[in-house]
Amino acid sequence: MAQLRSGRNGERGECRYVVWLPVQGLGNRMLSLVSTFLYALLTARVLLVHEPPEMEGLFCEPFPGTSWLLPATFPYKDVRFGSESKESYVSMLHNNVVRYDDVDGGNAGALPPYVYLHLENMNLRLQNHTFCEEDHRALDGFNWMLLRSDSYFAVALFLVPTYRDDLERMFPSKGSVFHHLGRYLLHPGNPAWGIAQRFFDGYLAGADQRLGVQVRIVWHHPVPFDVMFDQILRCTREHGLLPRLTGEPSLVRPSSNSTAKANKVKAVLVVSLKPEYYDKLHAMYYNNATDSGELVTVYQPSHDQDQHTEARAHNERALAEIFLLSYCDEMVTTSWSTFGYVAHALAGLRPRLLAPLDLSKMRSDVACVRPASIEPCLHSPPSLVCRRAQDLDPVAHVPFLRHCEDVDFGLKLV
Ligand code: GDP
Repeated sequence: MAQLRSGRNGERGECRYVVWLPVQGLGNRMLSLVSTFLYALLTARVLLVHEPPEMEGLFCEPFPGTSWLLPATFPYKDVRFGSESKESYVSMLHNNVVRYDDVDGGNAGALPPYVYLHLENMNLRLQNHTFCEEDHRALDGFNWMLLRSDSYFAVALFLVPTYRDDLERMFPSKGSVFHHLGRYLLHPGNPAWGIAQRFFDGYLAGADQRLGVQVRIVWHHPVPFDVMFDQILRCTREHGLLPRLTGEPSLVRPSSNSTAKANKVKAVLVVSLKPEYYDKLHAMYYNNATDSGELVTVYQPSHDQDQHTEARAHNERALAEIFLLSYCDEMVTTSWSTFGYVAHALAGLRPRLLAPLDLSKMRSDVACVRPASIEPCLHSPPSLVCRRAQDLDPVAHVPFLRHCEDVDFGLKLV
């Protein structure tokens, strides 16, 4: 800290740090925290986490006998850095404070005391000049890095050749990076864990099968209730996730194994800020028997109506519900939702992802799709060729990358 306050970068050989700064909702934060942890491993930095009041005690400390929390006296934790801040790496490049082509550690002492790396999505791109080999050599010169991201930028680390060997050794299979890192790092603290445990034991544990249905409606994409509900039903029926009601016309395929399923209990966990999806689904299976004889029980743990990331109790419920979803055998999730991504990636299962709607028709051709892997999607890819005029599509050049099923320009590991 003394070195940080001294006004200049420390010597090579001192401890090096990356400070994670929070932004956006819990799903975004979990994706970026896991990505920052991976970045810290690859660059031999100590990860320090800024835990604002709304996140206090939300997660357990992952490393026994030590703390990953940023000290309360850390000077810059509440500064609202942005891409234009003079401390940002790209601003430093523009202002010739740092040069990406001649940093070999020799002039490290002449650098400012820290660098801010802006990895928030900007018009669905990460800032240019943040994921090329030369940038990472230059960034390496700073002992202190402050980083803010809303994205699963772990994917972008696979584009930097310097990190490839280590990543290859860490992840022989690329399609489960978040699954391993998230389960290693992210453990709900006692309040969120208590909620998850009580709800699981009380409502879900006794069922023969559990289906999670996550419905996320965002203000800038207000899908009407009937349209969304219809799509959820189409998806669950087409893929045999929920039985038909008695007397209901056969939509797709008749159930052939009715006797085998008779008296089995299928618990449906509806997770949404809104109560109406639960209300309607619950009423359907409460008022009617099923064709297969299965008993369908429908539950929703909470319905806070609106996002309140600033409120700790709200975040505890959200975290508990992400984990409850992750204990389901099958999952229907909403496209674009980082909340849903985290749940299915922790579970280690490929969900049925509700297909984005064609807004002009308020319908999608298929109700839901099966993603190629359990990995979350990076919505905002970086430029692959930082210092050439023409960009390349990374999917054409990296064998373990695909575009996302719900975000066609997004990137995911498979
Ligand atoms: P995204 O916006 O879907 O990508 O997910 P985020 O988790 O980043 O932000 C949404 C936030 O809204 C969550 O973190 C919660 O605070 C709240 N939220 C959204 N959906 C739910 C839900 O189904 N249950 C609860 N408890 N909170 C939710």
